[in-house]
Amino acid sequence: MKYIDALKISTLLKEAEVKQNPSCIDEILLKAETLSGLSLLEAAMLINVKDESYLEKIFSSASKVKDKIYGKRVVLFVPLYISSHCANNCLYCGFRSDNHEAQRRTLTVKEIEEETIALLNRGHKRILAVSGEFAQADEKEAVNYYCKAIEAIYRAKFGQHYIRRVNINCAPLSLSGFKELKASGIGTYQLFQETYDDETYRRVHPSGQKSDPDNRIDAIERAIVSGIDDVGMGVLFGLFDFKFELLALLAHIKQLEARFGMGPHTISVPRLEDALGAPLTNKIPYPVSDVDFKKIVSVLRLAVPYTGIILSTREKASLRDELFGLGVSQISAESRTNPGAYNTGVNKDGLEQFSTVDHRSLEQVVNILIDKGFIPSFCAACYRKERTGHKFMQLAKPGLIKGKCSLNALVTLKEYLDDFAGFTTKEKGYSLIKEKEAELDAPGRKLLEEFLHEIEGGGRDRYV
Ligand code: SAM
Ligand code: SF4
Repeated sequence: MKYIDALKISTLLKEAEVKQNPSCIDEILLKAETLSGLSLLEAAMLINVKDESYLEKIFSSASKVKDKIYGKRVVLFVPLYISSHCANNCLYCGFRSDNHEAQRRTLTVKEIEEETIALLNRGHKRILAVSGEFAQADEKEAVNYYCKAIEAIYRAKFGQHYIRRVNINCAPLSLSGFKELKASGIGTYQLFQETYDDETYRRVHPSGQKSDPDNRIDAIERAIVSGIDDVGMGVLFGLFDFKFELLALLAHIKQLEARFGMGPHTISVPRLEDALGAPLTNKIPYPVSDVDFKKIVSVLRLAVPYTGIILSTREKASLRDELFGLGVSQISAESRTNPGAYNTGVNKDGLEQFSTVDHRSLEQVVNILIDKGFIPSFCAACYRKERTGHKFMQLAKPGLIKGKCSLNALVTLKEYLDDFAGFTTKEKGYSLIKEKEAELDAPGRKLLEEFLHEIEGGGRDRYV
């Protein structure tokens, strides 16, 4: 597979095992806490740690690094599945072309607007549009559909509410396709390599455009060259050895940093879930334990400190609650993976891409975050202030984005509480705002007070 030197990665993993000793782990963690990231060897040393007390040290360093970069805010979003038709045949996915278990749907523009209104009605402000892939020959049709979908999401209104940022997870496109997608106003373009092991990749993607690993790995660079400077990367954990995948993902990121001077805006850590009609999910080839999963998230946070780490509802509630404290900075809530499921629920039996596990409502997740001292955030300010790509990295890398994140998080939380929350959530939320306000610097406090006052008076959508 292009860019990935599998032999070098395996050698590094072996070297890390030989060199493993407690004092070097302490040294690596001290260095990581300065926000300087990790070399591949250092990441390999950490991912090899088994000793419980050292694992706790890794988790604690990840939590410190997340706080230094982003503060206590955790951004909330929701996926909106627009189409379950797919020309590919990924053996792990319910949408694969050979799966005839249930009915598929490609939402019309009107249906996408209706789905969006249903999500606005619950308080969501950020959407990740997700789609199966069109056949390669139909790229024009695909781009046209994605762009119309994005426009429909931005157009939807529920009272004074509208979606403030749309990210998308869809098929890799050509340069011109990506340019059109960018022009439609997307925030982040997400694409997961799934696995960096060449043999596994080819085996689990037997047909369709996705069967070419190099077209997929190149797509992230094509997106950046086309002007999409916020890209999201990821691995589907469970397909191959997680240690190899983690190092390969980091090697891929280093490649981007060397070429473009910036890395991914976000990294996602999906773990393989059950999917009806997807044989590979009956027996996961390389199961990842919860402890190893926590280690993956923590090492990513230490290795790529500036990136947003995204956690989906594929994980169970109790583990998600733990992971909020280990470096995760963006989470989804009340997700459904079948197109049309939010609006009326009539499609509740439609084809799901995979089964979600954490079924808590947005308000329940907001409550848990508050209980744990995190600030639930609906902020979409960076993209709207054109703080993307290099501009974002310049602020995020030294931890300068944190002041803006905290302030915007508190303002958007206040809006959510006023407009959507029940009595108990409101009470808890307002006292969290008071408590966190005291932690801002003097100019931040002044601005926050102004914004809160404006929101009190009916104003909305204030941000820095
Ligand atoms: N079709 C596009 C693609 O494959 O890149 C975009 C959407 S796909 C629906 C989004 C992601 O879902 C995939 O990249 C894959 O990592 C993840 N996924 C697929 N099947 C899954 C499963 N059974 N469990 C967990 N995640 C899965
Ligand atoms: Fe299609 Fe994406 Fe599912 Fe593969 S993972 S079958 S490309 S929707």
